[in-house]
Amino acid sequence: MTQQAWAFLGGKQVPLEDAKVGVMTHALHYGTAVFEGIRGNWNERNGNVVIFRLKEHYERLFRGCKILRIELPFSVDELCKITVDLLERNGYREDVYIRPLAFKGAQLVANLNLAGLEDEFMLVIVPFGSYIDNSRPLRCQTSSWRKAMDSSMPTGVKLSGLYTTSILAKTEAVAAGYDEAILLNQDGTVSEGSGENLFMIRDGVISTPSETDNCLLGITRDSVIQLAKQELGMEVVQRHIHRSELYLADEVFLTGTAAHVTAVGELDHRAIGTGETGPITKKLQDLYFSTVVGDNDRYSDWCTLVSPSGG
Ligand code: PMP
Repeated sequence: MTQQAWAFLGGKQVPLEDAKVGVMTHALHYGTAVFEGIRGNWNERNGNVVIFRLKEHYERLFRGCKILRIELPFSVDELCKITVDLLERNGYREDVYIRPLAFKGAQLVANLNLAGLEDEFMLVIVPFGSYIDNSRPLRCQTSSWRKAMDSSMPTGVKLSGLYTTSILAKTEAVAAGYDEAILLNQDGTVSEGSGENLFMIRDGVISTPSETDNCLLGITRDSVIQLAKQELGMEVVQRHIHRSELYLADEVFLTGTAAHVTAVGELDHRAIGTGETGPITKKLQDLYFSTVVGDNDRYSDWCTLVSPSGG
């Protein structure tokens, strides 16, 4: 018999099959929602699921809520506890993906004013393997879809509506035989992947698009910036990046909760560097992997250890 899976909705844990919303839900029609993607990594050695940077994910959720005028009846610390409790109850002994969603739950269509719409919060946790095959460098395509500018839709937080562009870009790239899409801004500078931030290395300097380049302020991005500076003593510059700079880079890699740190081997039929995972990307991959499973003591404050109970 498979074990009962639990979700959190309406302020309490409920069996996953009972966690339902109505067809009139505002967020379903208009994307009035903000979400997070958090990973729990199974550590076989100590028998814990290690949740990576849980607090920072909820802090970003709150920034999205502020923009969408969603008021949750929980604090960041309370949401962390709700998440740990739900994970314990589900009892998974494997890698998991944690998906909180704060949304306009009002049963009201034909209304484009956020004022007065009631808010909801839900949380699901699902077993999760690899999102993208990062054992080999990715083949990427510059997307024909351009990233929305923050002046059209706030881009630094995970607003559900923003993902239409990512989904169109990813679908286009995969249909054309590529692994992933790289999106440019309206002015042709580089923004990010469909679900990852982008880094480029040239002459020993790491560069990544800055906050004003309409990319998500990724938590993996922040982790990699800190690891590169503190562990490798490297310079990390946040600036506009031209498309052609990527073709000429020594190394390019993507970062994300789902994608981890993944090398780009080819972009638009041009090999990046040697086309293989570069030495700095490899070092950052190794550092990142040991950190997210809780094996890097210097960053243990990024990790929340949960011992599964189940039931
Ligand atoms: N950009 C986009 C568009 C994403 O969806 C994600 C995944 N959340 C990222 C970047 C990486 O962000 P993070 O490292 O916080 O997962």
